[in-house]
Amino acid sequence: MKRTSRDIRTANRYEVLRQIIAESPTSRQELAVATGLSLATVATLVGELLDLGLITEVGFEDSAGGRPRGLVAVDAPGGALVGVDVAETYLHVELFDLALNVLARADEDMRPGESRPEQVAARIAAGVASVVARSGVEPARVLGVGVSVPGQVDRDAGVAEYAPNWGWHDVPLRDLLAEHIGHPLYLDNPLRACMVAELWFGAARGRGDAVVVNLGTGVGAGLALGGGLHRGVSNSAGEWGHTTLVLDGRRCHCGGQGCVETYVGAPGIMQNLRELSPDSALLHSADQTATIDALARAAAEDDPVALKVVHETARYLGAGISDLINLLNPEVVVLSSWVAARLGEPLLREVRQAVARHALRRPLAATEIVLSPIPTDPVSLGAATFALEGALGSAGQRTARRMATARSRTAPPS
Ligand SMILES: [Zn+2]
Repeated sequence: MKRTSRDIRTANRYEVLRQIIAESPTSRQELAVATGLSLATVATLVGELLDLGLITEVGFEDSAGGRPRGLVAVDAPGGALVGVDVAETYLHVELFDLALNVLARADEDMRPGESRPEQVAARIAAGVASVVARSGVEPARVLGVGVSVPGQVDRDAGVAEYAPNWGWHDVPLRDLLAEHIGHPLYLDNPLRACMVAELWFGAARGRGDAVVVNLGTGVGAGLALGGGLHRGVSNSAGEWGHTTLVLDGRRCHCGGQGCVETYVGAPGIMQNLRELSPDSALLHSADQTATIDALARAAAEDDPVALKVVHETARYLGAGISDLINLLNPEVVVLSSWVAARLGEPLLREVRQAVARHALRRPLAATEIVLSPIPTDPVSLGAATFALEGALGSAGQRTARRMATARSRTAPPS
């Protein structure tokens, strides 16, 4: 994979800011040690972050005998970021300060039959306005709003290309949102958002190759290869939920049959329960969230039907995750999103056993399987991180412009 010098510069800028967010205050010298970058590179990147107002100088620390070292820290109240997680069953909006602390959140159910693009855009806009108002942050300080929507997304054009659960095709969502929201907007999907959240703040920090298995209504895999998010040539890598697990198996809304998603997505898990125990009291026929909650509670109390459903689901999931492990040889596989969070440890235990039955020994030995350690919603955190990356991207453009201006000033008269 060919990386341009601009990619490397962007990656370095992320790494320095990540390190400052993780450990504030810190010195340029400590940053150089932690990131492996030269002191000169760190000093340049710190200068850019200071110019942008993302970080601030906070005094000096004594260094034994030498010159006192300047300390920098993230300027938490210096700006705000909004992350929006739009799922099939809920809308979750969080407003963060620059240290990525949550200052305000809004939660709403998404009701079936209210999934027209204009309706969804209006709901998102109302959620964003509500968190900005409640946080008390001046609207001018909001650096950007990241929005994650299910399905395939053209992030550059801001278009939701295909959301099968809503029947969306080529919806210009960013334009619809821009009619209501004045902040810079960044659109992507939950696979990318979850992966970025784990890379910046979670189980994939400092790891080159990682997979986030996203278990919600839909299912997919966020991928990091060689230290960066892997998008594929048209931003649709990771559609693992629509790879075939069972030939001629259950019908999928994508038009295929036997897709991973039809066995381990929330509706697939409901089907697993229905097949094992059609009259189970755990089954809330029109309500995915209620059914998964009931299963999670019952499994925690060792209810035999619930444990059997978790076991069956983990059998499918384990086979699918083994494919990812054999194919990609990742250091870590993170189970994320609301279904994984709710089924928690009982699911993780069963998945580890199932994976051990399928994966090859060498890649298996190198892989750790964990639940997402991110305490809040990883998708809204990841969506906010897209807005942060957007703000950092403008730093790069500003530096390039300044250098061009400096060059034109010093150029000899022709
Ligand atoms: Zn499918």
